[in-house]
Amino acid sequence: MKVLIIEDNQDIAASIYDYLEMLGYTVDAADDGLSGLHLAVTNDYDVIILDLGLPGIDGIELCRRLRQNAQQLIPILMLTARDSLENKLEGFNSGADDYLVKPFSLKELAARVNVLSKRISRVPASRLQVGDLSLNVDTHEVHRAGQCIHLNPILFRLLTFLMQNAHRIIKREELECAVWQDNPPDSDALRTHLSSLRQLIDKPFDSRLLYTVRGFGYTFTDKNTED
Ligand code: CA
Repeated sequence: MKVLIIEDNQDIAASIYDYLEMLGYTVDAADDGLSGLHLAVTNDYDVIILDLGLPGIDGIELCRRLRQNAQQLIPILMLTARDSLENKLEGFNSGADDYLVKPFSLKELAARVNVLSKRISRVPASRLQVGDLSLNVDTHEVHRAGQCIHLNPILFRLLTFLMQNAHRIIKREELECAVWQDNPPDSDALRTHLSSLRQLIDKPFDSRLLYTVRGFGYTFTDKNTED
């Protein structure tokens, strides 16, 4: 199991490091927010132990940035010296999975890390991901390459269906049915909405995801496809 510790207090970081290593974990450590973020996005960790108060970007902001990139579903255990309810809520809102108030016992920490590590295979079904685009069915959040994208309800339904059916050809009737059930408006409506969707989720970015497959329908994929 591979664990990343992001903690600026050298003593705390060292004691966690030694303890987890003694338990047989592979451990990396960073002592500021930016280098921690860099390690987190360039390596595969099972759990990240994240201090709330950090130089550079703090734990809350780091958590947010990691969660904006939906590929970063790594469980995060937030550490803090401040035990107010407000801070706890802030930590969870930003995407932390668990919370530990300092001072804590290393045994307790290891137990929490262990529980969290088992969550890694549990990719939430409410979260759809195609390439660098992610969509959360529950919260309606859409992100691409770390940028938040706002969609109206029709575009959101369209995109959800496209992502649920990614990498295959989707017939136009299927899309109409997904968005308007049995009452599709005129035949140009779908094309217009798809065009609006492209402007928001494809145009501003380097690569495209939504393709027209002439004579067949559409496909939504991050694998290179000819239009
Ligand atoms: Ca700190």
